[in-house]
Amino acid sequence: MTITDDLREKLTALAFDMTDNFCYGCYKVVQGEKCPSCGTDDFMRHLDGVGVEYGTDWVIEHLIKQHCTPIDAEEQFEELLSETCETVKIGSLEYDPGYVLRNIDPVAFRCGVSDMLAGDEDLYTEIDCQYYNVCDIENMAEELS
Ligand SMILES: [Zn+2]
Repeated sequence: MTITDDLREKLTALAFDMTDNFCYGCYKVVQGEKCPSCGTDDFMRHLDGVGVEYGTDWVIEHLIKQHCTPIDAEEQFEELLSETCETVKIGSLEYDPGYVLRNIDPVAFRCGVSDMLAGDEDLYTEIDCQYYNVCDIENMAEELS
């Protein structure tokens, strides 16, 4: 997952808010800054119904998967081509450039999709082989904050 520090900070704050402190030593959810039983402040995060783990990345990924829809990268690339390239004309017939490339050269089309996803780390982020629009994630962070 590649997102800007700013967005990561927001999501991390959200992840903390929506999870509980969990003391692994005592194996229980605890309230407050320190575990009342053993005094540790080295907590795991506990998300009801989802799990317990250290760190917040897994909570953030859960949030994104729950609230955002993965993009259809091929569809997105076809649209991109159609917005940025000229209409293909054959005689008096006109074709959408995205549609043309997708159909006459699927290999080049797929390479283009990969380039689009890899080249724009600010626009797309990958979680479990699915790509998400970073602006969807930003909107989600705004809504949940
Ligand atoms: Zn404890």
